Amino acid sequence: ASLYKIDSWGAPYFSVNSSGNISVSPHGAETLPHQEIDLMKVVKKVSEPKFSGGLGLQFPLIVRFPDVLKNRLESLQSAFDSAILSQGYGSHYQGVYPVKCNQDRFVVEDIVEFGSPFRFGLEAGSKPELLLAMSCLCKGNPEAFLVCNGYKDAEYISLALIARKLHVDTVIVIEQEEELDLVIDISRKLGVRPMIGVRAKLRTKHSGHFGSTSGEKGKFGLTTMQILRVVRNLEQVGMLDCLQLLHFHIGSQIPSTSLLADGVGEAAQIYCELVRLGAGLKVIDIGGGLGIDYDGSQSSDSDISVGYGLKEYAKTVVQAVRYACDRKFVKHPIICSESGRAIVSHHSVLIFEAVSSSATSRPTMRSFGPGLQGLLEELTDDARVDYGNLTAAAIRGEYETCLLYADQLKQRCIQQFKEGSVSLEHLAAIDDLCEIVSRVIGVSESVRTYHVNLSLFTSIPDFWAIGQLFPIVPIHRLDQRPGVRGILSDLTCDSDGKVDKFIGGQSSLPLHELEGGEGKAHGGGGGGYYLGMFLGGAYQEALGGLHNLFGGPSVIRVSQSDGPHGFAVTRAVPGPSCGDVLRAMQHEPELMFEALKHRAEECGHVNEIARAELASGLARSFHNMPYLTTAASCATANNNF
Ligand code: PLP
Repeated sequence: ASLYKIDSWGAPYFSVNSSGNISVSPHGAETLPHQEIDLMKVVKKVSEPKFSGGLGLQFPLIVRFPDVLKNRLESLQSAFDSAILSQGYGSHYQGVYPVKCNQDRFVVEDIVEFGSPFRFGLEAGSKPELLLAMSCLCKGNPEAFLVCNGYKDAEYISLALIARKLHVDTVIVIEQEEELDLVIDISRKLGVRPMIGVRAKLRTKHSGHFGSTSGEKGKFGLTTMQILRVVRNLEQVGMLDCLQLLHFHIGSQIPSTSLLADGVGEAAQIYCELVRLGAGLKVIDIGGGLGIDYDGSQSSDSDISVGYGLKEYAKTVVQAVRYACDRKFVKHPIICSESGRAIVSHHSVLIFEAVSSSATSRPTMRSFGPGLQGLLEELTDDARVDYGNLTAAAIRGEYETCLLYADQLKQRCIQQFKEGSVSLEHLAAIDDLCEIVSRVIGVSESVRTYHVNLSLFTSIPDFWAIGQLFPIVPIHRLDQRPGVRGILSDLTCDSDGKVDKFIGGQSSLPLHELEGGEGKAHGGGGGGYYLGMFLGGAYQEALGGLHNLFGGPSVIRVSQSDGPHGFAVTRAVPGPSCGDVLRAMQHEPELMFEALKHRAEECGHVNEIARAELASGLARSFHNMPYLTTAASCATANNNF
């Protein structure tokens, strides 16, 4: 566990149990020992051919833990409740979940359900997000906010006003000045009194990667002058009382509480000024930005870590708002936050298999010796001199010089190969010779490549797009010291499809030898080598693409239960099939299937049995997921038919 720093980034949800497997504590620090879930047991269960009535699940797999979601929500609420109580703050905290972090139906529905005792609402940034937020909240959560952010047209604004008619507490946040006229016009037409917010562009700037939305030149929000114009316009039409919320967003992954205090303090001053100008303000919405410590370093100097926890975050916010309001004798507002990453990151684990590993070839004297003899005869005089110098340097023990001559010799041989005067076998022999020299000297790259049954572009897009690191760890065999180091190479035909940077500044990951030796992992009923990507519950699923037509993973939902296994799989959905991903690109799998079948008949497969076999093989290919069918998933994949 210490090798992978699991206790640092994983607590209180992930640890290693006595079997050497990752253990999930679904209720965080309140989890009782018998409630812990062994992740490998989950893998074994869903790998059983009979799992879920023969539904069959292929990897990669997202395992969602709704109990973790509940615990995150409750922990956030209780951090604010405690800060409010201890500081004698005169109002309450009422958060919203920005659905863009993970729009999965069950994630959103869980959040609405688990958050209803404390009026937790939703934030939307587009029309489909608004539609989903409206339909989730209209089921009976009248006091929860629905905060509407993002670029808006007349249709978006009409929808938000309709939501208000449906008794959803919907706030339209003005992000562009032009939106105000639309809100005034449409609300009059629909006969609805809108709840309006303004998004302020703060001067406070967060300098990390996620801070580009902050500062005066940020993409979103209104400048001070624009805010004043909004106030004046609303006043003129007798709607200044509708301006009820002040919003800002410093950026995701706010690194430190000092920056947070600075930003919230500035916004609280704007809030007080707007109250002075007569706005009906009652909510300060501090946006997102509550960070996640992806590497467990608790550092405020990095994009993947933060130097605070939930309690410090809440305390800082409450303090900054209270201080500004007290100085101006302004009634304490409701504090709303739009924390996304902090709510959903921990709730899911992406599990994928390493299917094979390739070491850099391990040459022996035996393998290249005979080749070398022939090679020497083919070499030019210059190359032969290099070889002589190389052996002489080796005898003298001058290893740096050896390396130099080995490299020079190799380059000459490559040139000779290109000219046709060195054979393929001899070129291979020289590669081996150079590798042996490097190994003896100890500079050899002995990092292996582990081929994983995954698409990085689909499942860890932020790694590729913005270099975001997530903890990646084998989910079993953690009681055995890993014998090798490796990088992960995905299935896509793309050289960017590899993970070669890991938390802790590592360029390779300690990994175990695949059982069955170098090369293939032998799977079968959960017998493969499984890795987990943790803390990836936010953003990755929606950002992931279809590169090489690899679709999303299978998804299961696992709840803690007091039954024999300690858990129950309450939902299982196979990932998109080849047919599904083809359909997403406008192809018509049914027609393709028919055309291929017809062609097969034309090609002479007249025998009834041969024809049926061919058709069922084709059908299987359309129905199975695009990922490799490994030994572990073979039985289940075939079960689809
Ligand atoms: N609110 C707004 C307006 C955002 O732009 C974002 C994300 O960048 C969020 C909330 C969520 O931020 P986070 O996931 O950092 O909490």
